[in-house]
Amino acid sequence: MLNPGINLESSRAAVQLAVRCQPVYAAVGIHPNEHVQLGRETLRELRALAAEPAVVAIGEIGLDYYHHMTPPGEQQRRFRAQLDLAAELELPVIIHCRNAHADALGIISAWQASGGAKVNAGVFHSFGGDAVHAETARELGFYLGITGPVTFPTADGLRKIVAHMPEDRLLIETDAPFLAPQPRRGKRNEPAHVRWVAEKIAAVRAAKTEAIAQASTENANRLFAWDD
Ligand SMILES: [Zn+2]
Repeated sequence: MLNPGINLESSRAAVQLAVRCQPVYAAVGIHPNEHVQLGRETLRELRALAAEPAVVAIGEIGLDYYHHMTPPGEQQRRFRAQLDLAAELELPVIIHCRNAHADALGIISAWQASGGAKVNAGVFHSFGGDAVHAETARELGFYLGITGPVTFPTADGLRKIVAHMPEDRLLIETDAPFLAPQPRRGKRNEPAHVRWVAEKIAAVRAAKTEAIAQASTENANRLFAWDD
């Protein structure tokens, strides 16, 4: 189970929880919707938090042009700075991306071209882009995190992407407490609800749920390089 931070406070809490409750792991990062100055001090604390072995990724980081809490230029600056931090620490990244896939993929592509990318590139968490974005993310070595919306009646586009994506690129996540699957839609989401996400992925791929669960577990093991 991987529990990401969205600012310093929640990153600290995620690390504390991970240290106390194995095998819960943590990611640390500044989310694009946070009102935080990402200066040298903040980066220094993220780096210190990431020194804890239970921290397996930098995230959530990324771009959000939907909520637009921070000007795009500032979001992009923070995103690049935290990608560089991930490269320095040799950790994968958890990308939050809303209505900003072209820019996010462009920044990642430039980061990789500059030598920043590692084999463990990262995941587009709760993927919400189109089929072209999905293909580009895959080419850049990224995984797609699939959440509750894959079970929503209107999500045909996402289901089509899920049906065609190679099995070794798919991850299953909750985004709890948000995005509860259709049977619990609008209620508080929780980790046990990934079952419905796995069942829907299996259904659209004409696969067994157990096989999807097994594959996504192996994918997470590979991406986050944790011990179990
Ligand atoms: Zn997010």
